[in-house]
Amino acid sequence: MKILVVNAGSSSIKYQVIDMTDESVLAVGLVDRVGIPGSTLKHEPAGKEAVVIKQDLPDHTAGMELVLEVLVNPEYGVVKSMDEIGAVGHRTVHGGEAFAQSVVIDDEVKKVIRDCIDIAPLHNPPNLMGIEACQKLMPNVKHVGVFDTAFHQTMEPANYMYALPYEVYEEYRVRRYGFHGTSHYYVSHRAADMLGKKFEDCKIITLHLGNGASMAAIKDGKVVDTSMGFTPLEGLVMGTRSGDIDPGIVFYLMDKLGMNPAEANNYFNKKSGLLGLSGVSNDMRDIEEAANNGNARAQIALEVYYNHVKGYIGNYFAKLNGCDCIVFTAGVGENGIDIRRHICEDLDALGIKMDVEKNKVRGKEVDVATEDSRVRIFVIPTNEELVIARDTYRLAK
Ligand code: ADP
Repeated sequence: MKILVVNAGSSSIKYQVIDMTDESVLAVGLVDRVGIPGSTLKHEPAGKEAVVIKQDLPDHTAGMELVLEVLVNPEYGVVKSMDEIGAVGHRTVHGGEAFAQSVVIDDEVKKVIRDCIDIAPLHNPPNLMGIEACQKLMPNVKHVGVFDTAFHQTMEPANYMYALPYEVYEEYRVRRYGFHGTSHYYVSHRAADMLGKKFEDCKIITLHLGNGASMAAIKDGKVVDTSMGFTPLEGLVMGTRSGDIDPGIVFYLMDKLGMNPAEANNYFNKKSGLLGLSGVSNDMRDIEEAANNGNARAQIALEVYYNHVKGYIGNYFAKLNGCDCIVFTAGVGENGIDIRRHICEDLDALGIKMDVEKNKVRGKEVDVATEDSRVRIFVIPTNEELVIARDTYRLAK
């Protein structure tokens, strides 16, 4: 069976076609500027030249129509007809407390996704648009929802409750949910394989360091804690998000800068983090370059970044009572050689010792700890699409 994996954002649609007989990727693609003049589709069929099509796409349905046309194109398509696509897996951000696992999407499931718009206003509406566009165009196959929040649903109240009046949890669903669950799931399972142990017998700390960043502490096959919370704003320093701050700052700056709640939301999500602190960029490569050229603000931004990550490693060591391995993944985690080295510096008291020569590696599955390190340090490229395809295949069969 071939599976189409769809990740619909507010103005983009990412897709992959995966052949489940050998889990090979037949094509990857990106539709950009959906609903904005100047839309483009970039389609990369395996082993062939990439194709770029420029064509205005007013909405997600038009975007998906073009994707399907491209997939069956005799020249650069990857299937003869859409009948070869057995099911569609949809990356969906927020499933609230309803889904601890992937599900076949029916009207009930769509209602839950819609009900979660209130707590995921940026992500769930485009996810839903992607689902509805695909259902309209492919009414005869199963559509499966794979939720970013699902893997973290094993957290206990001790880690998901905020010390706020209990009613806001009951009435407004204010609790910690966590995100990037599909990535934490994938790399933690790979890590168990690399340890040669059963997943249920491992203590693992995963570091998903991309433009958005989060960590998770995993024990007995369950997520014990994760750094993102009610929204993706909590936790680590990110490209443009502040991560953990004193919430008092929010009220203070709303007053000083005359911001309303929407403006404050934008300020802490889009103007803060590495970008705000350095004034250089939200891209880690730019920050490193500026810091290496003596830019003091970029140097401070990096130090604050490392500190947050180290703090969470310590936090999770305590919560797990030790740990078998830490796992670096996503853009920065897979590629940031110096970043990984700085994060692991002076952690030998916890049994974390990096082999700095082995660490000189990008985008490969590898153990970069010294022989005598009590804790393994893995670099594992994430693969959220494969998790989505596997879940979709399992549920569609
Ligand atoms: P997203 O959260 O958008 O999926 P990614 O996981 O693709 O993000 O990560 C993007 C981040 O990875 C960017 O900040 C980029 O600078 C960083 N990155 C990519 N390559 C390198 C590298 N060689 N060294 C350091 N950072 C890198």
